[in-house]
Amino acid sequence: MLNESILEVENANRTETVPAGDYWIDTISKGDTFRITDLKGNQAVDTLFFNADNPHERYSAFDTLREQQNLYLTTGSTLLSDEGNPMLTIVADTCGRHDTLGGACAGESNTVRYALEKKSMHSCRDSWLLAVNQHEEWGLTKRDIAHNINFFMNVPVTPEGGLTFEDGISAPGKYVELVAEMNILVLISNCPQLNNPCNGYNPTPIELAVWQSAS
Ligand SMILES: [Zn+2]
Repeated sequence: MLNESILEVENANRTETVPAGDYWIDTISKGDTFRITDLKGNQAVDTLFFNADNPHERYSAFDTLREQQNLYLTTGSTLLSDEGNPMLTIVADTCGRHDTLGGACAGESNTVRYALEKKSMHSCRDSWLLAVNQHEEWGLTKRDIAHNINFFMNVPVTPEGGLTFEDGISAPGKYVELVAEMNILVLISNCPQLNNPCNGYNPTPIELAVWQSAS
């Protein structure tokens, strides 16, 4: 469902721009509002969420989709952990649909989907593995890199039940905004994929903004 936020970026406690192909790993506190803005349009933002107080509890696509009884994420979606706990709720969304079925790009999937010589191309999985290795303080390993959310990515389900990667429905300045229901560790790969339309074949930067709760 499309709906705009009442918050202004100028009043955010933090803002940060993440270039295409980079990762971002940091925490937001329970009650904080977190906005991801697709600055140039049609950018896939591959995102993992962990419980910052116990990073082995993580976002679960299965639990989230089963409980909301819908395949797409948008306003009103509560993102559940693999222990069934609410992690974040989407409170504003000017794009209208976000994928959590398509998975993240990896050297292996690039090889299967496109060509053998694509194996060494930079992927989201590479970015996440680099992040967990450069931030050992969280105790994460590749075992913790599980299914993710692709904010702004358009992966419609066909009437036959198939998945297709389609041209994005996002546009410059579209955003999604979430409120944290627990202390959250965010791990984003701003997708470097060049082989499918998820980034419009041209990966671009995103902007992150955090409004801290008054309490
Ligand atoms: Zn990717």
